[in-house]
Amino acid sequence: MQKGTIGVSTENIFPVIKKFLYSDHEIFLRELVSNAVDASQKLRTLANFGDFKGDVGDLKVTVTVDKEAGTLTVSDHGIGMTAEEVDKYINQIAFSGAEDFLTKYKDNAQAIIGHFGLGFYSAFMVADKVTISTLSYKEGAEPVRWECDGSPSYTMEKGDRATRGTDIILHIDKDCTEFLDQQRVDMLLRKYCRFLPVPVISGMEREYKDGKWVDTDRELVINSTEPQWMKKPAELTDEDYLKFYRDLYPGEEDPLFWIHLNVDFPFTLTGILYFPKIKNNFDINRNRIQLYCNQVYVTDSVEGVVPDFMQLLQGVIDSPDIPLNVSRSYLQSDSAVKKISGYITKKVASRLDELFRADRKAFESKWDDIRIFIVYGMLTDEKFCDAAMKFLLLRDTSGQYYTPEEYKTLVEASQTNVDGKIVYLYATDATAQYNYIKAANDKGYNVLLLDGQLDSHFVGLLERKLENTELVRVDSDVVDNLIRKSERRGAGLSAVDTAILSQLFESVTRKVEKTGFTVSFEALAPSAQPVVLTQNEYMRRMKEMAAMQPGMNFYAELPDNYSLVVNTEHPLVKAITERADKALASTVKPLLDSIDADNQAADDIRKAAPEGKLSAEDEQRVKDLEKKVADAREQQQKAIAEYTGSVPEVSQLVDLALLGNGLLKGRNLSDFITRSVEMMK
Ligand code: ADP
Repeated sequence: MQKGTIGVSTENIFPVIKKFLYSDHEIFLRELVSNAVDASQKLRTLANFGDFKGDVGDLKVTVTVDKEAGTLTVSDHGIGMTAEEVDKYINQIAFSGAEDFLTKYKDNAQAIIGHFGLGFYSAFMVADKVTISTLSYKEGAEPVRWECDGSPSYTMEKGDRATRGTDIILHIDKDCTEFLDQQRVDMLLRKYCRFLPVPVISGMEREYKDGKWVDTDRELVINSTEPQWMKKPAELTDEDYLKFYRDLYPGEEDPLFWIHLNVDFPFTLTGILYFPKIKNNFDINRNRIQLYCNQVYVTDSVEGVVPDFMQLLQGVIDSPDIPLNVSRSYLQSDSAVKKISGYITKKVASRLDELFRADRKAFESKWDDIRIFIVYGMLTDEKFCDAAMKFLLLRDTSGQYYTPEEYKTLVEASQTNVDGKIVYLYATDATAQYNYIKAANDKGYNVLLLDGQLDSHFVGLLERKLENTELVRVDSDVVDNLIRKSERRGAGLSAVDTAILSQLFESVTRKVEKTGFTVSFEALAPSAQPVVLTQNEYMRRMKEMAAMQPGMNFYAELPDNYSLVVNTEHPLVKAITERADKALASTVKPLLDSIDADNQAADDIRKAAPEGKLSAEDEQRVKDLEKKVADAREQQQKAIAEYTGSVPEVSQLVDLALLGNGLLKGRNLSDFITRSVEMMK
């Protein structure tokens, strides 16, 4: 019998393995089954090349749980190991700089295992004793029995195994008895070994008989040895792809379409990515893509390997070239991984382009479901963005779809403003902004619907990508001014009427809380609305952005600001103006005149003062004039305020505009109803 100490520089690696790798310890099963599968495949390869002439037999890996004995055994009929090989591969593990590394990655079992090729030793995460019983395929080889009880010392002697292959027997630690539970083991095997290329058997199939589960005489095969992604796309039908999807994600709605990835240069990558139905509400199911390495399941957190937006997809990626056993941050900076991520992006974009070209109608019918994915991609990935301009669709409020180019052709003639810029109008809520959309349509304008969750960012992106184009929300100005064709028209009001109407309208807007209104007058078409509320495009965007980003509180805290545009050409407004003029002009005009004259006089005195220094006497005169102006103002305000009660139409018009924008609530709404009834009498 040979006795010895495992070649580790750190005195005692096992407590470290146990302690540090605790959280991930279930992966021991993956490691051992992968080794068994490797050994089986190596034998198959040797046989194929004629280097093994014996009977290959049934190459399967069997996992057996023996609750009574407290063991879990992984057996294979692979190449086995000679005593020299056990010595070389198992006894001599070189741990250079082990301690440093362990401290650094103590929370990352994957990293530690990968770094050391610690696969086999992960058995000690769950076992207090491990036995290897093996017989090499080589002619004249002798069976070997190796045992180690979790201290660095092992024993190695001649074994009694009669058939080629290896048994790894784990004497499960008393803290880890969960791994003696058949169902738990089945579950783990299904998770990690579902697509391994050699059949993996986990005990017998079970059936429910006489009130309990009993073993049948059929072996329970865990895996499908030829998963769809390893096949050639030409061999697969749509039904095959759908079936595979349903196997991967049971109970989910069928995907919209899929992409079969298949490269072998400059790296190896296979896989199938599915586009699930992603509704606009953006319930991202991250980590749904499963990452495999030569058919061994590794993880379903693929950040770094695929671009962020692709994490909205589902499916499988398999690549032996992704350094799986390293930390996340390393993964993200690894250039091979970057290349892979770039490749996937390109492939997805070209597939989308293909679908678009092949069947535009079908593509349009799926558009609303994939839109958020594409917009997310365009916003976060420059290359994808450029590629996506070829199949991006813009949807208008009537449900028509256009490519950016088609849309430009559609609106260029009618929607170019006085500065030569093409103005795209958009709505963010087809129902709430119905009035504005209708007004724009009536004027012959088209309105895009941008009601997705990311669209406030998307608007900016479109402006950057489309030349000489500006996006303007349909309610950001009165329809005549949305796309300015000439200079703004004046309101055609006298100074006296402007003063009177300003106060009349301002006094009724003040009742809306936390909202600011700027009253202005414009001579719009007589058929246009008498009072229109608009919201400045720039300010609104600032507020929306601020709401999404921390550190921009200044904008977020500004009150909502609206422009209240009074259409002086509207018959109702005209009537109000005439009546108010009749009732108030004789009072207001002399006051306004005296205010103007007094202001002028005060200004003259200030200007005449040498070096701006007023004499005491002049100072008194200015003060008197200012007092006169203030008094006149007060008189004017009082006169107009007294009149307010006799023009309920002003309140009524403003309330209608508020109502149209969902701003009329509570007491204001109740007042409006009372007043309306009153006015109908
Ligand atoms: P890795 O698999 O990363 O090389 P392991 O510690 O898991 O590291 O295994 C070390 C070596 O032991 C393997 O490369 C292989 O040569 C040998 N080995 C492990 N398990 C088996 C097995 N079931 N049959 C034959 N050889 C094995």
